[in-house]
Amino acid sequence: MNRRRFLKTCFHSLLAAGCVQTWNILETSAAFRKIPVLLYHRIGYTAGPLTIVPERLEADLRLLRDFGYHTLTLEQFQSYVFNRTGDLPDNPLLITFDDGYLDNYQYAYPLLKKYGMTGTFFIITGLLWEQDRLRPEHIVEMAQAGMSFGSHTVSHRQLGQLSGADVQDELNSSRSTMESVLAKPVQLLAYPQGSYNAQTIQAARENGYIGAFTTAYGTCSRSADFFELKRIPVFNYDGNVLAVLARYAY
Ligand SMILES: [Zn+2]
Repeated sequence: MNRRRFLKTCFHSLLAAGCVQTWNILETSAAFRKIPVLLYHRIGYTAGPLTIVPERLEADLRLLRDFGYHTLTLEQFQSYVFNRTGDLPDNPLLITFDDGYLDNYQYAYPLLKKYGMTGTFFIITGLLWEQDRLRPEHIVEMAQAGMSFGSHTVSHRQLGQLSGADVQDELNSSRSTMESVLAKPVQLLAYPQGSYNAQTIQAARENGYIGAFTTAYGTCSRSADFFELKRIPVFNYDGNVLAVLARYAY
């Protein structure tokens, strides 16, 4: 090999090594990119720490918009975290609502639309026809407007306390009910009252789920444990949403 060819080979090797290294850095940073997942429950005027008044939710959404947060659909979240495809906007955020109260349709849904945002709602399927809960027609309308849905089981009992057969039924029935309402696969679950154990996770895997959200504080990333996804619960006694994120989005 003459000197010129040798130098050329060296140059190409260095370039290739640099590209691989850059790619590895990008892959590593993507793996650890954090996505905060807010957890709300009721939006309205009922008593209790889990109810946020609509004015407070609107103030939170306005702050999130003004500070450059971009809400994700559950499908975008799934693609990025689970399938490792797609990209994220700056300041990504998933906003979730548990328990499927009718007030989510009355107050949260119009506010999310007003601010050009999207939310994910975890539904207790055994309560779908109760007066104070979302009914299938609400869910279909909201889904058509870009909202996302997941399972919050049939009866909202603590999965970590139930027998194996009951856990199977809670997971399987709720998933198939939601799939028939939405006419598409439902693969994510929120554990009622944050209760689960190793058997719950095994049963969730066996019943077609690819991941589940807890009520433990923290953020999500590609390197998270998919059946122990953390969220950031918001209570009515908390400060504004930016203060909550500053405190818990670690
Ligand atoms: Zn719940």
